[in-house]
Amino acid sequence: MKKFSATTPIYYVNAKPHLGHAYTTIVTDAVCRWHKLCGEEVHLLTGTDEHGLKIQQFADAEGVSPKQFVDRIAPMFADAWRRLNIDVSDFIRTTEQRHKVGVQKLLQACYDAGDIEVDVYRGHYCVACEAYYMPEELDDGKCKIHSTKAQYVEEENYFFRLSRYEKKLLDWYAAHPDAIKPDHRVNEVTGFIKQGLRDFSVSRKSLTWGIELPWDKSHVAYVWFDALANYITAHGYGTDEKRFAATWPVDYHFIGKDIIRFHCVYWPAMLMSAGLEPPKGWAVGGWLLVGGEKMSKTTGNVVNPLDLIDEIGVDGFRYYVLADTNYGNDGDFSYEGLLSRFNSDLANNFGNLAARVATVVEKKCGGVGPKPSSKGELAAIATTSVADTIKEWQNVQTSRALDATWSLIRATNAFLEAHEPWKMEPGKELDTVMGDALEALRIVTILASPAMPRTCQEVWQRLGMSGQVADQRIGTDTQWGRYPGSTKVHKGEPLFPRKKV
Ligand SMILES: [Zn+2]
Repeated sequence: MKKFSATTPIYYVNAKPHLGHAYTTIVTDAVCRWHKLCGEEVHLLTGTDEHGLKIQQFADAEGVSPKQFVDRIAPMFADAWRRLNIDVSDFIRTTEQRHKVGVQKLLQACYDAGDIEVDVYRGHYCVACEAYYMPEELDDGKCKIHSTKAQYVEEENYFFRLSRYEKKLLDWYAAHPDAIKPDHRVNEVTGFIKQGLRDFSVSRKSLTWGIELPWDKSHVAYVWFDALANYITAHGYGTDEKRFAATWPVDYHFIGKDIIRFHCVYWPAMLMSAGLEPPKGWAVGGWLLVGGEKMSKTTGNVVNPLDLIDEIGVDGFRYYVLADTNYGNDGDFSYEGLLSRFNSDLANNFGNLAARVATVVEKKCGGVGPKPSSKGELAAIATTSVADTIKEWQNVQTSRALDATWSLIRATNAFLEAHEPWKMEPGKELDTVMGDALEALRIVTILASPAMPRTCQEVWQRLGMSGQVADQRIGTDTQWGRYPGSTKVHKGEPLFPRKKV
């Protein structure tokens, strides 16, 4: 069985899950569900990043231990993903033993390869960012993100010799030109490498809340070797080498554009140093801006996705974030936009189609679905819609994929309006129209299910289809004419009751 494996970033537990976390995670889940529909064995890895100075400081401020602090926040992420119907295969926490063992193995491998060396760092450090900055990266000595004065520090650090990997990385990207989606991001990465790479610090001596370097216990691993390594430690690196060999490299790391350098430059170099393969690919998303700005605690525009699902439903929310912004571009999140898309695409299109079809079948066909024709006018449109939907999901173009699916919904609604089956007498002509409309709706239900798993399962059952929509197969079950006819069709409650804007 073909495998498909994807990861989200592990999320830093200094705050509760917000819209940005939910966005990347929903895209990853929908793409995984698509690959499952294609008959692949799917693995989705997510988790939480739990070490570092900031966590230590938060815990100190609350008078609890860092472990107590992270033990309280990490379950909020697991719970958010349950509520957003994310099909998580593995949830890793960087405070787990399996992670610690793997991180130490990775550090030791890079150290043994001669790529980690001790040095003295002299320069400016922003505590809130937990990052060193060059003078030109600061604004009058202040961090550009936090507007606080960066501290001058001088400390012994171990450094990863990233500068040795310029050519190896460029050669790798030349040999793997399709590794980053969307395509234009490749140039950003190779352009950055070509400017010359600087060695980066991999340890801290002043910090205790972290994983000790195996050869020097007075240092703990700094964020990159700790956080990025989750992608391999979760797959068994250091603890289950057989499983690791069978599951690494993964197909995609789903990431936001702000962490592209760490994921597409640091991470593959670290893997190469340890004698491991880089991942097969990265899917780089833009930001969902709120009021034209990146969400942040400072501007106070943080959106909690869990507040929205009470209002719009899990599937309404999932659909919105997948359909409204093409993955890779920045999107603009607004409550008005959420409601208006819900009303237009879901209530007026998908929901209306399902209701119309069931109403006419109940009233005029005795509630039993007629068979579709072998090639009605909708058949050709369905074939194109299926082919386009496949192509766009394969390229991680979520909004285009859903638009390709919605083209069949729009065409089927137009088909019904043209034929007006609600005015027709029961008989052969009516049966042909309704059989074709049912077949189009059945195909749509499979195609839309990665975005809206529960709603599509509900429609599947209302069409009288047996089993799970998620167990259907793209290619065979999406062919025109697979609807057998003679199933009992139910109208049920409105799927997407219109929202007042
Ligand atoms: Zn800062």
